[in-house]
This record gives sequence, C-alpha cells and structure tokens, in this order.
Amino acid sequence: MVELIPSEDAVMQILKRTGAFREGHFVYPNGKHSPHYFQMPLAFRYYDTARVLAVALSRKFRLEKDISSQLPKVSVISPSSGGIPVAFGVRDALNAEQIYWAEQESGKRMFRQYVNQGEINPCIIVDDIIRSGNAIDETVELVRSLGARIIGCGAIVKFDMAPDEIEGGPVKSLINFDVRMYESDQDCSECKAGVKPEQVRF
Ligand SMILES: [Zn+2]
Repeated sequence: MVELIPSEDAVMQILKRTGAFREGHFVYPNGKHSPHYFQMPLAFRYYDTARVLAVALSRKFRLEKDISSQLPKVSVISPSSGGIPVAFGVRDALNAEQIYWAEQESGKRMFRQYVNQGEINPCIIVDDIIRSGNAIDETVELVRSLGARIIGCGAIVKFDMAPDEIEGGPVKSLINFDVRMYESDQDCSECKAGVKPEQVRF
C-alpha cells in the first residue's frame, strides 16, 4: 500500500539525509545553545525531496473540508523566502490558483507582488519551518489587512513552542519538534560534556 502521508520518522530521515536537520552543539546569534539545528532549504534543494515533503503537507490540507471545498480558488502564501518552494509544491499538489510570498523590508513584512484588496482568494499560509510563530502572526496580520480569509496554515516542521492554532484552525505539520534550547552556556549539557560548539547564522 502506498503511504500517503509519511510518518514523522520517515520525514526526519529525509531531513537528516539532506543535511536539513543536524545534531551536535550549536550556538545561535542570540547566544542560545542547542543540540539541534534545522536548515530547511537543504531539503528543498533536491526536487524529489521537495516534492515528497510538499505533497505530504498538501494532503493534510486536503483533508480539511473548508479547504478542499474551495479549491482551486485558493491562495497559497509564504511568510518568507524559505517557504517559497513549499508554497509552490503545495500549490501544485492542490492545484490552487494563486501564490504570494512576503519578504521583510526595513523590518516590516510585506508582499512583493501588487496584491489588491478584493482579488485575493481564501488563503493557506505555508512555511518550511515554524519556530516561534512570529512570522506566521505577521503574515496573518498582512492577509487580514487585505480583507482575505485564512483557511489553513502549516509547515514541514513545527516547533512545539509555536501555537497549535491559527485563526481557529489547527496548524498542520509533518513533524512536531520537541525543542531543546539553552539560554546560555551555563545551562547547556553539550557545553558541560565538552562538545565543540559551532556558531550558526540563524
Ligand atoms: Zn553549549
């Protein structure tokens, strides 16, 4: 039997194999330490892997009646450049009509495309990874300001500290990740174990 939605384990194997998920000892720009590190674009550089992940996520959306009943008049929206390949993959699998992506300009999240009020379909917001949920919240505000309705939200990986619901609907993900993050080297078990740290950019 074909497995329609791969298990968390299977998705994690893909992320490990592509280097999108690494274990070790990482120090973030904000000074926090962690034994794990996600670089989701590494999984999306392979077309086949990108397709498997996006199709799996799209199937979770298709199970929602509010979404499946409105297709193809749906917009898929990415909060940032990292979510663009996910948005294209999900759009393709759902055969949705439109794609938009936001970018940050002088600290403000905005759409690059000229989106006019009234022309935007009901929206699904998708990203590669949802960490705090801030990017999603800002995108929700942006979409609301256009007068559009949000009918779904999801990502390949969702950190457990991110909200479980957006606009009254569940946040979909292929992996719900149990984050281990230490405020400083004082609390870090890898520091205590003497594991050499690696500085990371995000
Ligand atoms: Zn450490």
